[in-house]
Amino acid sequence: MAAISRFLRSAGLMAQARVADIAQSLINRHGQSRPAGPPPIGPMKAGSFAEIPAYKALLKHRGLAKLLGLVDPFYKCHDARLGAHIWIGQRCYTNFASYDYLGFNRHPSVIEAATAAIARHGTSVSASRIVAGERPFHRDLEKALADLYGVEDAVTFVSGHATNVSTIATLLSSDDLVLHDELVHNSVLIGVKLSQATARSFRHNDLNVLENLLKQNRTLHKRALIAVEGLYSMDGDVPNLPRLIELKERYGAWLMVDEAHALGVLGSRGHGSAEHFGVDPASVDIWMGTLSKALASCGGYIAGKNELIDLLRFQAPGLVYSVGLAPPLAAAASAALQLLKNEPERVASLQSNGRLFLAEATAAGLNTGTSQGHAIVSVIVGDLVNAGRLTERLLARGVNVLPIIFPAVPIKAARLRFFITSEHTPAQIRDIVRLLREELDDLRHGRKAA
Ligand code: PMP
Repeated sequence: MAAISRFLRSAGLMAQARVADIAQSLINRHGQSRPAGPPPIGPMKAGSFAEIPAYKALLKHRGLAKLLGLVDPFYKCHDARLGAHIWIGQRCYTNFASYDYLGFNRHPSVIEAATAAIARHGTSVSASRIVAGERPFHRDLEKALADLYGVEDAVTFVSGHATNVSTIATLLSSDDLVLHDELVHNSVLIGVKLSQATARSFRHNDLNVLENLLKQNRTLHKRALIAVEGLYSMDGDVPNLPRLIELKERYGAWLMVDEAHALGVLGSRGHGSAEHFGVDPASVDIWMGTLSKALASCGGYIAGKNELIDLLRFQAPGLVYSVGLAPPLAAAASAALQLLKNEPERVASLQSNGRLFLAEATAAGLNTGTSQGHAIVSVIVGDLVNAGRLTERLLARGVNVLPIIFPAVPIKAARLRFFITSEHTPAQIRDIVRLLREELDDLRHGRKAA
């Protein structure tokens, strides 16, 4: 206040008597030491976490579920290694809620490789790779991934989610444009937010809308990225990759394909979307994938041109400022990649199981939306209550499957999402579809659960 009074007086603007009043009113309005900027929005207290809107929404959902007598299906604790069967408490269930598409999580070679890596290198590399965490198994895994895609190089991150966030935020900035499918994974959306690029979403798999967006917006931005998934985990359908390649070439954009659910699932050898469509893998700029699904490990990867990988190795914050992949995880993923080559019959079983599930569900008159029978089949059952009750009924009959509800999907399109693996038997698939039909009919006719 003294400084403000001195300034007003020395400027000769004010009579002595008014100086103190005006200085005080300036302080009241802006605070003594606050730089110019928006006024404060509330009292200076941290407040309770319970006041955060996201938490309030969570409590509201829980309250509603309790009111309807639904059991919370999330964070269910499993007692033994996940597979086509699981144990919860003392009971064994047929499991349709695992991404272990090829059953590698229980494979002796994967377990042996992970155990040997711990014996040799320990459980952690204890530092970021750029500093002191680089090990030969990082390079081995990355070479195997690059070879699988038939591209120049690859790099791995400790999380699939962080891979998308870090990569997109490294490649793009506020001058740029991202066009993404409306159902693309949250990790892509967070990466785009962090990059500050302009984001536009297009209706799921509607490439005409994408083309219009490219026509209207492409020239307004320096770079453009089209981001899609190879196999969508909500609906179990695939985008038209050849048309995406044609569009990205015509409008000068990079194409990023998230292969989290496509690797091991699509293509005659399970090599993913490029193999499925018979396109040259080099025509996709950025292949992204996770190690946590078909490869029975944890982490993510980017595969593509040398300069892309070089850039990420030195600039992607999720790599530079985060620990390298742990020895057992890298070894497990490498062993799983080797198995993909050595045991192609697993891919064939997975694909025939997926087709069988879809055919049986269609024959039973179930609404499978746009699912195409590639390891993920969603059965749409209406609202949240139906989805919750059906999940409970199936659990009571020995089947574990999870509901997907609003806001992940539209409010009336709640669904049960079935992840099919090479380990399921045709008999299990026929049984589950029959149970599903019975329980859904009973539910709709208000009949009590068995
Ligand atoms: N992309 C997609 C399409 C996913 O489904 C997921 C996870 N479900 C991720 C990225 C993130 O992978 P992770 O769980 O391995 O971090």
